[in-house]
Amino acid sequence: GADLQLQGIRKVFPGFTAIEELDLLIPAGSFFALLGPSGCGKTTTLRLVAGLEDPSEGRILIGGQDVTAVKPHKRPVNTVFQSYALFPHMTVLENVAFGLRRRKVSDAVPKAHEALRLVELDHVAERRPSQLSGGQQQRVALARAIVNRPALLLLDEPLGALDLKLRRQMQLELKSIQAEVGLTFLHVTHDQEEAMTMADTVAVMNHGRIEQLGSPQELYELPRTGFVANFLGQSNLFPAEVESTAGGLLTARTAGGVVALPEERAVARTGRITVGIRPEKLRLLGTEPPRDGLENVLGPGRIVDVSFAGASTQYILEISGLGEVTVFEQNLVFGSVFSPGSEVWVAWRREHTFG
Ligand code: ADP
Ligand code: MG
Repeated sequence: GADLQLQGIRKVFPGFTAIEELDLLIPAGSFFALLGPSGCGKTTTLRLVAGLEDPSEGRILIGGQDVTAVKPHKRPVNTVFQSYALFPHMTVLENVAFGLRRRKVSDAVPKAHEALRLVELDHVAERRPSQLSGGQQQRVALARAIVNRPALLLLDEPLGALDLKLRRQMQLELKSIQAEVGLTFLHVTHDQEEAMTMADTVAVMNHGRIEQLGSPQELYELPRTGFVANFLGQSNLFPAEVESTAGGLLTARTAGGVVALPEERAVARTGRITVGIRPEKLRLLGTEPPRDGLENVLGPGRIVDVSFAGASTQYILEISGLGEVTVFEQNLVFGSVFSPGSEVWVAWRREHTFG
């Protein structure tokens, strides 16, 4: 694999700016996910890298080579789309070998077999695509895209057409294939779970910009914007005013009471901030809690909704002044303890707070 650099990229379509500003360095051999809602500019970014669109500004470098002015077919890049577009009249093997044969590569057939072995489909090499399942067809498309060992593989929502269970399975397979071939993968998706499961690094994109970039854990545990906090799972966000900072601890006043968090987890040290906490980091307590390890306490509030979800229960409580708070409690033994109308406090550890 090779690294990919996007330097000062901007893409303006007539009347619409799809990419406002994009600077990215994707290290060689990494599995990088570009995650964002529909219309945020993901496909445009891939089309720029593939050479199917020209940037309005900026440069694109693959393996240190400036390819901004290089024609698409001369770039060391392949793309896998959601619609795998296999040739129906050819066998699986012929589909995978097609590009190599057209370029008169001498060992096209052994190379195609090798790519099929990698996606564990060599045993169906002589079948037609219509005789395969959707997941198998997508793996053939992947074999076809990696058979000539491009420096960079672009994947544009490749699993979007598969049902949930198959998609989860393919995510793990794709990840292990990437580790095995060592190519640089740039994977585009609007599915946060998919991005977090597969990628080493995730860039969250919104309105043609990267909002935050980091490992899945970093993004989840310490989101830097409300958009990131809500796009990667659920969050409780409370407006707050910073009261003080001392000894590495920041104290802020919300409408429901004072909370504290490590200073380095806050975006700003003064003025108005938004305090965030993930629903599964919250504990519900039926009496004003002893503060054993759970330094932040808000309440009392009243439970307004209880939804059983198998492994967990979701509670919505209403705290006067603060509004609704969502809490996920794991159903460890007996399931739901609190019923609608119960008076409860909510407590959590300072270091689980972001601000
Ligand atoms: P995503 O893949 O994240 O869903 P796209 O990159 O396809 O988003 O599109 C980003 C935005 O750019 C969308 O609002 C889309 O309508 C717009 N766009 C894409 N291609 C063109 C084009 N050729 N002309 C005008 N607008 C475009
Ligand atoms: Mg798209």
